[in-house]
Amino acid sequence: MKNSGIPTLPAAPAPEPSTDSGPSNFIKTLIEEDLRAGKNDGRVATRFPPEPNGYLHIGHAKSICLNFGLARDYNGTCNLRFDDTNPAKENAEYVASIQTDVRWLGFDWEDRVHFASDYFEALYGYAVALIQAGKAYVCSLSADQIREYRGTLTEPGSPSPYRNRSIAENLDLFTRMRAGEFADGSHVLRAKIDMAAANLVLRDPTLYRIRRLHHHRTADRWCIYPMYDFTHCLSDAIEGITHSVCTMEFENNRALYDWVLDNLEVPCHPQQIEFARLNLTHTVLSKRKLIELVEKGFVSGWDDPRMPTISGLRRRGYPAEAIRTFCERIGVAKRESMVDIALLEHCVRENLNASAPRVMGVLRPLKVVIDNYPEGQVEEMTFLNHPEYPERGSRMVPFSKVLYIERDDFREEAPRKWFRLAPGREVRLRYAYYVTCVKVVKDAAGEVVALHCTYDPATRGGDSPDGRKVKGTLHWVSAAHALPAEVRLYDNLFSEADPQACADFEACLNPRSLETLTDSRVEASLATAAAGSRYQFERQGYFCRDLQAAGADRLVFNRTVGLRDSWAKIEKAQQRDA
Ligand code: ATP
Ligand code: MG
Repeated sequence: MKNSGIPTLPAAPAPEPSTDSGPSNFIKTLIEEDLRAGKNDGRVATRFPPEPNGYLHIGHAKSICLNFGLARDYNGTCNLRFDDTNPAKENAEYVASIQTDVRWLGFDWEDRVHFASDYFEALYGYAVALIQAGKAYVCSLSADQIREYRGTLTEPGSPSPYRNRSIAENLDLFTRMRAGEFADGSHVLRAKIDMAAANLVLRDPTLYRIRRLHHHRTADRWCIYPMYDFTHCLSDAIEGITHSVCTMEFENNRALYDWVLDNLEVPCHPQQIEFARLNLTHTVLSKRKLIELVEKGFVSGWDDPRMPTISGLRRRGYPAEAIRTFCERIGVAKRESMVDIALLEHCVRENLNASAPRVMGVLRPLKVVIDNYPEGQVEEMTFLNHPEYPERGSRMVPFSKVLYIERDDFREEAPRKWFRLAPGREVRLRYAYYVTCVKVVKDAAGEVVALHCTYDPATRGGDSPDGRKVKGTLHWVSAAHALPAEVRLYDNLFSEADPQACADFEACLNPRSLETLTDSRVEASLATAAAGSRYQFERQGYFCRDLQAAGADRLVFNRTVGLRDSWAKIEKAQQRDA
């Protein structure tokens, strides 16, 4: 595996029994200092500012939980703000999906949904104010020239020949830029800061560029668009944000964030605070790469259950609550780290173990005929919906002469320690009877196609009155009553732990990330399973009725997560090493 140099850190220990406010972190400490000092009149206002240029992913969930969580913990507010200043990549489908996903995660922005594009007129006014103050100028160098003039980390830049245009000339040119008199790329508006600044971001950054693009909200009203660095701080100030939380890659931009607000008359000056973004093993968390997977057809869409998108995780069956727990457990820090995807799966498993009803699903069926069971007889067996919570009730599941069991639960040549079915061996059929395999039926190719068993009528319910013990308990369905189902089994999207470090990330895609079983059988009670509802198929894992295929002519289930908890093992090893 190539290594991006990002250490894999152990996650925070399991949280204290959930309180309303999650564990502390450096941002909370900072906010509490501000509150003690009486800053912002004791107000806490945050925002989650996605660019509507893709679907949200689990990394965004970290930021959403953080920003909305801070508002909740300090009785403040959190706005949803679309940072929609680059019409080339943005659209209304993304705007809609982002709102669906934030709501589904369990957060509410009430009436505080904003769009940077709503501020275009105000932003234009601020730009004019900077020009009037002699702090911005229209530059007519090409993009390449601007880059050449910028200098490097070790050498200062040199001033643009247009740097000393008069205020009147700048105002005139900027007005005409807006009026559409100039070609795209012929002029930009730049802040007049310092071409020798050690921080390259401050070397007269571009504030506006000419781009004749149709915007999904402002249509063709504008042909100049403000840059992120100019838009973001002013949008925060306009909305009265107190703490503007963003990821580490904006650390250098903080100087510009502050410069813009310091040099304009604004309602308030929010504080930018950076934290490390989430990286997760075996996946990519970059919208650009996720778009590529969708557009090149490596996945079925943004909501493919293998995608780390919120819509993909939802369709996979991940409960919103488990995602929130995960975001709490990974914590908030300044140092980049790589979180093991096993921790996310662990949080999902922990949640579903408590919440999901138990049902019977046979993924790869093998027919079993109970020779001594009366032809035509059907018995209703009592199944607990959740063995740990008897108060959640039980249901009746039909048992009959012909059943299906899991193909994997039978071996013709079985070792001594094989506790499942084999010729001559006895097992328990869950909540039903003890059965013994008496005959194996094969087809012409020698493949096992059915088993014949006998049952012991004295073991009804799955207990032997004579105290005879069997080690194996198998799940089963009655052939005549079970429903055919398609079951989709998922594995990591990437075989490499750190695909972001691969030169060609598409080459590290896991060819076995999806296995579709088209001949599974599930108990009849699942006929009415709501789309998106989750179950434990006993001994097989957690499954969710597919949201998209709900109207299809047969049941489709996605495996959310298997039963084996690889995180528990990792955690144990970490404790041992510590
Ligand atoms: P990407 O890198 O996936 O394209 P982005 O940062 O360009 O993401 P935005 O829509 O600008 O996406 O992100 C909205 C907010 O979510 C920002 O505040 C950003 O810092 C935060 N965010 C994005 N990715 C992550 C991540 N992996 N971990 C934590 N926060 C993130
Ligand atoms: Mg961004």
